[in-house]
Amino acid sequence: MKSAIIRASFDTLYRSGAHVLLRPFFEGVGAIVMLHHVRPPRHDEFQPNRGLEVSPEFLSETLSWLRAQDIDIVSLDEMLRRLTEREFARRFVCITFDDGYRDNKLFAYPILKGHRAPFAVYVPTSFPERRGKLWWIALETVIAGNDSIVVTIDGTERRLACTTASQKREAYDTVYWWLRGLATEAEIHAFVDELSARYGVDMRPVADELCMDWNEIREIAADPLVTIGAHTDNHVMLGKATEETARSELKTGRDLIEAELGIEVRHLAYPYGGRDLVGPREFRIASELGYKTAVTTRPGVLFAAHDRHMTALPRLSLNGEYQAARYVKVLMSGAATALFNGFRRVDAA
Ligand SMILES: [Zn+2]
Repeated sequence: MKSAIIRASFDTLYRSGAHVLLRPFFEGVGAIVMLHHVRPPRHDEFQPNRGLEVSPEFLSETLSWLRAQDIDIVSLDEMLRRLTEREFARRFVCITFDDGYRDNKLFAYPILKGHRAPFAVYVPTSFPERRGKLWWIALETVIAGNDSIVVTIDGTERRLACTTASQKREAYDTVYWWLRGLATEAEIHAFVDELSARYGVDMRPVADELCMDWNEIREIAADPLVTIGAHTDNHVMLGKATEETARSELKTGRDLIEAELGIEVRHLAYPYGGRDLVGPREFRIASELGYKTAVTTRPGVLFAAHDRHMTALPRLSLNGEYQAARYVKVLMSGAATALFNGFRRVDAA
């Protein structure tokens, strides 16, 4: 439902031409694009994490469109330089991938290389080390494989029907958003671990299949087109963590990549980087730890004034639910995010 409303407002902005009228005022100087998975579409009806993946074709079309618009595709270091030196003669875009999924290397990398497009991959170090928990995928796997599940929510045992795709979706949303609201991340992991064990889902091979290991990361990192950025160690919800834990996650995630790859890591993406879980405390810690840039998932394009908020940068999500050239045009015009942000340009509070 929510995505239907968003799609309708995108379409209205596009058809009315409002995005063209608003563009000169809200397109800013550039943008950082956020992606997760890039892989051929699956045809299962139940894909609650569909928003997190786009097809190789859509990525390819988007890059061609950016090139046709004469927009520079630049590395995070080059973005940093342009913002710092206030060099805005040409519009620019950074392409970023979160989580270090193997499909980035298999499907996205050849396309980006073909376009000579630099890009960044933000790696939570527990994923290549296989200590990490992809709990949202564990939950999806349990629900996909069962006609009903029994869960204890707020002390009450409930049986959730999940026979049809729409029941599965409803069960997923119920459990997912209840889990997101829990006070600590340890509780989320304990719940999903118990659920996975009870329904016979072993997440280890799933993580093996989905995530790059260190050798694969090393391979792409050797290409000058590629920047490896930090994404904490355990892909934590920083807003639920103590200051001490948040600081150590932000530091360990960088230290492990530097030790493993022998490179300097200057850039960070906050996991779950929305306003609910990432704010001024995290912006300050990232800056104190010496990160040169840090990206959120707050929607927005870049303005010159972002040079004073380098650890609170917004991004444009290329969402799997909206894979059409017109959505990219509306996003890049800054019109959609201007509406979303109440026409504020910088939102770093
Ligand atoms: Zn992530």
